[in-house]
Amino acid sequence: MLKEAKTQLDAAFKYAEIDSESWEKLQYPQRTIQCSLPMRHDDGTLKVYKAFRCQYDSTLGPCKGGIRFHPNVDRDHCEALAFWMTFKCAAVKIPFGGAKGGIRIDAKTLSHRELERISKAYIDAFADVIGPDIDIPAPDMATDERVMGWMYSEYRKIKGGHPKDCITGKPTALGGIEGRNSATGYGGFYILETLLNDYYDKINVNIKDKSIALQGFGKVGTWFADIAYRNGYKIVAVSNEFDGVYDPKGLNIDTVLRSQNASGGKEWGCGSRITNDELLALPVDILVPAAIENVITAKNVNDIKAKMVFELANGPTTNEADAILNDKKIFVVPDILANAGGVVVSYFEWVQNRGGIVKTLDEVNLDLNRVMTYATNKVMERFMEHSIPLRTATYALALKRIGMANECLGNKGYFRSRQ
Ligand code: NAD
Repeated sequence: MLKEAKTQLDAAFKYAEIDSESWEKLQYPQRTIQCSLPMRHDDGTLKVYKAFRCQYDSTLGPCKGGIRFHPNVDRDHCEALAFWMTFKCAAVKIPFGGAKGGIRIDAKTLSHRELERISKAYIDAFADVIGPDIDIPAPDMATDERVMGWMYSEYRKIKGGHPKDCITGKPTALGGIEGRNSATGYGGFYILETLLNDYYDKINVNIKDKSIALQGFGKVGTWFADIAYRNGYKIVAVSNEFDGVYDPKGLNIDTVLRSQNASGGKEWGCGSRITNDELLALPVDILVPAAIENVITAKNVNDIKAKMVFELANGPTTNEADAILNDKKIFVVPDILANAGGVVVSYFEWVQNRGGIVKTLDEVNLDLNRVMTYATNKVMERFMEHSIPLRTATYALALKRIGMANECLGNKGYFRSRQ
């Protein structure tokens, strides 16, 4: 995964104005720590789980990234996700480096108490390599504010005091911020609106009726659907890991949300059933992958009829498919820009915890909109200057910012050379 992710960076190098030494440093993660976590299960048995934390680059500030509980978690996964976090933070000008961590475990099989034990075990193992000025974890797949609350509790026990800024995505009762749950979906929507309202003639996307097909109806997808629906977009299809629902006239998202919540994700309450493969091939204006990695591949890319792919998931498009989308003039809004709203509001939470201030929900959303709009404007400047894919433009901007910071740190030594 990391090798594939780094290929995206290569295309941006010549537009980034970054010196060769800063570039070389970014080819490798700063450090990846692996630990073994022994955990006693409710039935008395002891099992040992593999856990990881990768801190990819900390040039811009303390590292930032989620903790994922998933059976696929391994070193490569964490390094690739930490790599994306590095460039995401830089692209939206948040003073954080990139990290990611996780435990190789299936959280669905754990009881409430087992989940609490393994969450605290993670902090026991990594407490000395994380912290408010070093690396600030957050939720990711299968971890949520409840898990962050347990992790904060364990960190506080080990370090003493009330270091609320050690972790973000906490419950509001423990210093979490309003609006964190909706941040990634809303942040994506603010970018989409900026592109369609301010750059419509530049991005060359012929939008007919603002129709959307959305894959993934979880934390990110539901909030994106909610705000897009309320602002007049026509969401014709949504899906989850089981299947999806389609109505060419547009779905009532309130009905879909109610049915999904009541049925544990099994019922949709309206429209007709479709598969995830069918959803990806629908004739819509905007296709929004908001589920998992590698769903748009060389195999299915030629079926895609959308005019824009808006990547709310991390890494939903393989490099091969991305090149084909570009050839077909399908406009791709890359993950490191499209889904950065979550880390932006995490940054607000960290600032709130350090400053002892509390932002209201309206303030959070206004500030999020401001940051996402500014980021979009900056990326679009590069896009228009060089006529390059938006992904390349976003990486180029992020690379330039990291390179400049590295230069200001003065740690490149005597042999500096400009490209
Ligand atoms: P989630 O677990 O809440 O939701 C994932 C959704 O995808 C669920 O509806 C699930 O049923 C569906 N899904 C899972 N496997 C699928 C499959 N094979 N086919 C179709 N649908 C499938 O996760 P989330 O937090 O919403 O994250 C979704 C994506 O967004 C991930 O790629 C994540 O890394 C990325 N992301 C999340 C955040 C955040 O703030 N949560 C921030 C940035 C990026």
